[in-house]
Amino acid sequence: MPEKIAIIGGGIAGLTAGYLLNDRYDVSLFEKDKRLGGNVYTLDTKTGEEIDISVFFWSPLLYPNFAKLLKKIGIDTKATKLTEGLSESFRNMNTKRDYYLSCDLTKPRSTFSLKNFKSVIYQMLVLWNYAKMIRIYKAGRLDGLSMRQAIEFCPALKGDLLKLAFFPICIMTSMLWDELMDAPAEFIVAKIKKLGSPLKFISWRLYPCKTRVYVDKLAAPFKDKINLNAAIKSVTRNGNSVVLKMDDDTEKKFDKVIFACPADTALGLLSDPSVDETRLLSPWRYNDGLVIIHTDKSNYPAEDLWSMYSYLYTDDDGNINTSINAHYRFQNGVPDDSNYIGCQHPNIDIDKDKIEFQKVFRTPVYDCDSFATIAELPSLNGKTNTYYCGSHFGYGLHEDAVTSAINVAKLLGAEWP
Ligand SMILES: Cc1cc2nc3c(=O)[nH]c(=O)nc-3n(C[C@H](O)[C@H](O)[C@H](O)COP(=O)(O)OP(=O)(O)OC[C@H]3O[C@@H](n4cnc5c(N)ncnc54)[C@H](O)[C@@H]3O)c2cc1C
Repeated sequence: MPEKIAIIGGGIAGLTAGYLLNDRYDVSLFEKDKRLGGNVYTLDTKTGEEIDISVFFWSPLLYPNFAKLLKKIGIDTKATKLTEGLSESFRNMNTKRDYYLSCDLTKPRSTFSLKNFKSVIYQMLVLWNYAKMIRIYKAGRLDGLSMRQAIEFCPALKGDLLKLAFFPICIMTSMLWDELMDAPAEFIVAKIKKLGSPLKFISWRLYPCKTRVYVDKLAAPFKDKINLNAAIKSVTRNGNSVVLKMDDDTEKKFDKVIFACPADTALGLLSDPSVDETRLLSPWRYNDGLVIIHTDKSNYPAEDLWSMYSYLYTDDDGNINTSINAHYRFQNGVPDDSNYIGCQHPNIDIDKDKIEFQKVFRTPVYDCDSFATIAELPSLNGKTNTYYCGSHFGYGLHEDAVTSAINVAKLLGAEWP
């Protein structure tokens, strides 16, 4: 009889672990939501469009394990659409000043257009300051500093330039401005270095298919063992077994458990956390970030200037606030005249009649305390029949979630790739 494994969480980490372990174990996956995917969400709109409203970027160069996983489940990554030069617009809602950064020559304000001179200069300055920050990081001078303190090494980074430099990092981390500024500079600058060098930058892609396609393919081999609307209430380890208490207070017994849910949830579920589990999981806080899908264009640049992302920001005496707004026209299969906008961390009035959907997505906050645990998190695996995975094992991205799940599966004897 194969051993029984419970997986808590049906995001990309839990699905990867389930997919890889299903051959060797009697796997049961428990997802509290009525759907699989966690932070991966494809929305069917009222107008019949299929829009990926959260996760939609990856890079074969920077996501090697995820690329291998896609290949394993038969998804042709060559079909991937390039991002056609990431384009962004920035609107200072206080001054009504707009900046446009785009390598798309067909756009009226491309990075190469004279009309856009100030934005172009700003873009150069941003890159120059990133490079300076990376040099300081490599010299070990950012150790122990917050991002707010590290910025003092780059006095040119102030006013709108500061925002142009760091709003894109809010996307890469799903963090709010103040969270980003309080984050360890080492973490943020390492992330800029890892993800943003010019060579790596051009490797960024849109997913080759709607994200729900790979969610469904990963789940297919063990779909009968997936339990939706199944929130776990507690987990108790008794010698050789693990007991999961369900929402309705019924109990199920397993040989092992994999926590593929947020770290704070995992710790809250454990009835008997060890000293190390408390030490390594308790520093993690999560951002409950609202994303609103709507068609209210009133706050945005003219449609011919729409980019992938628009940042609408305010700066009230240093109190900086931005929403991150995705325009979906560039996605595979989304019509060129799609009117949908996704507003993450909304800071604008949106006409209620034009709101079609909204959802809260939970993402890890990287502060000095949580960052300090990352190197040690894998050491929790295998103790008292318990394992952990999720995007918080790295930079908060798909590759991190997938790699941590592969590591757990390998520890449990699965073959990879
Ligand atoms: C708006 C947005 C855009 C993003 N864009 C990108 C992108 O383009 N590229 C990229 O690489 N990353 C992106 N990310 C980051 C993304 O979060 C990670 O890539 C990854 O999807 C996280 O996967 P995970 O499995 O670790 O966690 P999650 O997806 O959070 O999955 C955890 C699961 O556990 C479940 N759960 C929690 N508690 C319980 C319980 N008690 N019982 C049962 N189940 C439970 C949750 O419901 C959830 O389904 C984005 C995130 C957001 C929010």
